[in-house]
Amino acid sequence: DEIAVGELASRLKKTGAEVVRQLIKLGVMASVSDVIDYDTAALVAMELGAKVTKEVVVTIEERLIDVSADSEADLVPRSPVVVVMGHVDHGKTSLLDAIRKSDVVSGEAGGITQHIGAYRVQIKGKPITFLDTPGHEAFTSMRARGAMVTDIAILVVAADDGIMPQTVEAINHAKAANIPIIVAINKMDKPGANPERIKQQLTEYGLVSEEWGGETIICPISAKLHQGLDSLLEAVVLTAEMRELKANPKRAAQGTVIEARLDKGRGPVTTVLVQNGTLKQGDVIIAGKAVGRVRAMTDDKGEKLTQAGPSVPVEIIGMSEVPGAGDLFYAVADERMARELVMQRKEEEKAAASAPSHKVTLEDLFSQIQQGEVKELGIIVKADVQGTAEAVKTSLEKLSNPEVRVRVIHSGVGAISESDIMLASTSNAIVVGFNVRPDNAARDSAARANVDVRMYRVIYDCINEMEAAMKGMLSPKF
Ligand code: GDP
Repeated sequence: DEIAVGELASRLKKTGAEVVRQLIKLGVMASVSDVIDYDTAALVAMELGAKVTKEVVVTIEERLIDVSADSEADLVPRSPVVVVMGHVDHGKTSLLDAIRKSDVVSGEAGGITQHIGAYRVQIKGKPITFLDTPGHEAFTSMRARGAMVTDIAILVVAADDGIMPQTVEAINHAKAANIPIIVAINKMDKPGANPERIKQQLTEYGLVSEEWGGETIICPISAKLHQGLDSLLEAVVLTAEMRELKANPKRAAQGTVIEARLDKGRGPVTTVLVQNGTLKQGDVIIAGKAVGRVRAMTDDKGEKLTQAGPSVPVEIIGMSEVPGAGDLFYAVADERMARELVMQRKEEEKAAASAPSHKVTLEDLFSQIQQGEVKELGIIVKADVQGTAEAVKTSLEKLSNPEVRVRVIHSGVGAISESDIMLASTSNAIVVGFNVRPDNAARDSAARANVDVRMYRVIYDCINEMEAAMKGMLSPKF
């Protein structure tokens, strides 16, 4: 995939010289007649404020399931919803399997466990819901769609490997979502296991072990040998109790779509997590742009249910089409109203696509600060080497002034990834890269979500530009 510089310029409605100048800034020496690759072209387009895809831009807002509208008297405690995060191969899947197998209740019932995207276990009579898809990507992509489903994160760190790049991402994604982190130091059975070293490393990320006077519960475990799981699960129960999670089972159900697929025989099969209210068989529900009547409900043990209360995941059949994971669902009074709502949503989406989005960009940062819309500038830093990432983080945060605080939400090494963009989108942050580029997926989602992505080669340039933007003195783009 290649394009001539001149052709790119005309598609961007810019002059050839403007594009060439932009290319030079990116370190590419090319003239108007030269051909450049798609990656470079997309970067130039992005730098010039253009979208690289023609896809619809959807503005994303965080729509929390809000119980503040329910009267205090109707609220009852609900069980926690937990996500397992951590670096690849540190044992997330093994831990989820081990917890599921250790659930005596399902064992006694002789039920066959079904993979529906989430499952529930009973810990001393107290249920806990686990999301079955580990990792922060799934977690943040749901958040990016406005869903806030998890109450607690378990961070898995392999005792023989320590903190790795995705461990840091997981920590920052959980922090951005404001959910408590419980650390499971896994693979304690391995000869090289060194939990003390990991506890030390964790302090650098603000996770200080309770035994060292901090607030983070750290549990040594072996997912393989099923050791330490009891203490870990008790820590989850304890953390949940402290959060005083509540919901109102008396109202119409609302929650989030966890998974959805098309089954040849049964049509759309959708797993929803009920977050407030009670979902009943026969209810009319709307999820994203799909409507339907709940014909049958099954839990993770394969048992048929007629109703499901808060924090219960159920697989339902009866939707008209397949909704998306992360879509919110609501039970509504009647089907006609549901269809009207869907129409309304489609209209809203159209309107949102043509309306300017309120994402923060360096260009309008100053006016947003002036109007009091921005009190904090969130930044995600990606660099080719750790030293640069650290240096940029420190220098950027020093730019904070009484009007606006500069906060680096995440910094790491490597290409700008889709999960960086999603984190930026949900946190209304901008992304800066040093000698790194966004990968294809990241570029697409940056364009879709209108996230400001800036590439630099020298720290000095970045700091200067940020400082200028904060003072409203950013020189106009060429
Ligand atoms: P994930 O990528 O984080 O989901 O990691 P997996 O659960 O797939 O585990 C990665 C590898 O580590 C697999 O080969 C597991 O068998 C192994 N593993 C997981 N937990 C333990 C453990 O507690 N002890 C040992 N020795 N190996 C483990």
